[in-house]
Amino acid sequence: MSPSQIPVAVLGATGSVGQRFISLLDNHPWFKVVALAASDRSVGQRYAGACRWVLNEPMPEYAREMVVVPATPECIDSKIVFSALHNEIAKDLEPQFAQAGFAVCSNASSYRRGEDVPLLLPEINADHIQLVKIQREQRGWSGCILTNPNCTSTGLTIALKALDDAFGVKKVFAVSLQALSGAGYPGVSSLDIIDNVIPNVGNGGEEEKVEWEPRKMLGKYIETFEPPSSAASPPPRARVELADIKFSAHTNRVAVMDGHTVCASVELSRPTKPEAAEAILREYRAPASASELPSSPRPVIDVRSEADRPQPRLDRLTGKGMTTVVGRLRRDPILDLKFVVLSHNTIRGAAGGSIYNAELLVSENLL
Ligand code: NAP
Repeated sequence: MSPSQIPVAVLGATGSVGQRFISLLDNHPWFKVVALAASDRSVGQRYAGACRWVLNEPMPEYAREMVVVPATPECIDSKIVFSALHNEIAKDLEPQFAQAGFAVCSNASSYRRGEDVPLLLPEINADHIQLVKIQREQRGWSGCILTNPNCTSTGLTIALKALDDAFGVKKVFAVSLQALSGAGYPGVSSLDIIDNVIPNVGNGGEEEKVEWEPRKMLGKYIETFEPPSSAASPPPRARVELADIKFSAHTNRVAVMDGHTVCASVELSRPTKPEAAEAILREYRAPASASELPSSPRPVIDVRSEADRPQPRLDRLTGKGMTTVVGRLRRDPILDLKFVVLSHNTIRGAAGGSIYNAELLVSENLL
C-alpha cells in the first residue's frame, strides 16, 4: 500500500513538540502538511515569523511561508491532526476535531486513560489500536483520538515489554533524569536548572503517569465476541486489562537538552541472569503490523555493552531518535535486575511517536 500524500495538520505547531512535527513531516512519504495551527499569539503570521525555531536542523522550507491558522476544525482541511497542545487546551479541542471527522494523534495526557482510547507504542501494543472502533461506536464520532504516552514512560515501557514477555515483570522501581526540552519552550528558567537537579517534573503528576501508563500499554487487549445487547447502552466489546505490575517512580529534571534517561530496577516472576535479559532485549522485534512502517524504529531496542552508556548526548539519535537504548544490565541486590534506558523525548517520546501511530492507523485501514 502506498497512501501517498494524506493531508495532515499540526496543532501547537510553534511549540517544542510542534517543531519536531514540522521537521519529521518534511518529505514524509505518506503525509503532506496542509495547515499549521497555534494560539491567537501566532495566528495570521507566517510560520517563520511566529515561531522561535529551537531545533539544530534548519526549519523546513515548506513551513516557512505557511500562515498560522486557529486550532479549530472549521479552519483546517485535513484527515489527520497531530496535536502538540497542552492538556487543558487539548481536553476541549481534541474531541471537537474527532467529532468533526479528524483522526487526532495526540501528545497530551487528557485522554490517555480513556477506556476506549488507544495509548500506543506500536512496537509493543499495535493491537490496542483496534479500540478506535469501540470509540467511534460509543461516542458517535467519525474521527477518533489516539494517544502516545508520556515521554518518560515511553522507553521504559518498551524495555519492560521485552522483559515481561520473557520473564514476567512483577515490580518496577524507576528514577528518571528528564531533559529540558520536555518542559516545552521557554520551559524551565536557566537560573533554576543550571548547576541543579529539580526533583519534581511538570508541577506534579509526572510520577503518577509513569506509574500508570505502562500498565495500560503492557495490558492485554481483550475482545469479547458477544452480539451487541439490545440495552440502551451496550457494554464495550473490547477493552484493555491493565497489567498487574507495581510501579514506583521518582521523576527529576536535569540540565540535558534532549533525551530522557531512566534508571530502573525490576522484580521478575522468573528471575534471570543479566546476560539472558540482554539477549532478550537485543532480539525484541515489533509486531508484524508495526515493523515496516515509515517511522518504525530500526532497531526497536539497541543494547549498549559499554559500562558508561547510554548517554543522552551520544545515544539519543540512535535509529533517527526512534530507537530505545538500553545499557548497564546487571543484578539488583534488592529486586532482580537493574538497567538504564534512554529515549529521545521529543522524537520517540512525542512527535515521532504520534506520526508512527498515524501510520499504523492508515495501514490498518482505520483512518
Ligand atoms: P510548548 O512548547 O509550550 O508549545 C505549546 C504550543 O501550543 C504552542 O504552539 C502554542 O502556540 C500552542 N498553544 C497554546 N495555547 C493554544 C491555544 N489556546 N490554542 C491553540 N494552540 C495553543 O509545549 P510542548 O512542550 O511542545 O508540549 C506540547 C504537548 O506535548 C503537551 O501536552 C506536552 O505535555 C506534550 N508532550 C511534550 C513532550 C516534550 O518532550 N516536550 C513529550 C511528550 C508529550 P503559540 O506559540 O502561538 O503560543
